[in-house]
Amino acid sequence: MSDSPIDSVKYAAVLKQTRMRRKFFFATILAYIPALLVTHKISPTNKAMGTVFGIWVVILIISTFLVALSKCPRCGNYFHMHGLTLLVLRKCLHCQLHIKHSDL
Ligand SMILES: [Zn+2]
Repeated sequence: MSDSPIDSVKYAAVLKQTRMRRKFFFATILAYIPALLVTHKISPTNKAMGTVFGIWVVILIISTFLVALSKCPRCGNYFHMHGLTLLVLRKCLHCQLHIKHSDL
């Protein structure tokens, strides 16, 4: 499988977007504990904690979908999905295209 320069430009654009989605996804997961700690300091009520948790779950669902539905620019399959399995790895689960392919 040889990659022409035109393909590399296309890969770079698509993979850049995929990397953004992954960052958003990981940032959402990492924000969970700090968000609850901050909320606890400001307003340590069950209602406030529940509201923040609810918002966090919604954001997590959105970011998970964005990551799951990212397509691989080379093989056209979902980059992080194999069947119903979601694996956020650094390579395409189908053709092994690396997430940083464009930086080579
Ligand atoms: Zn692929």
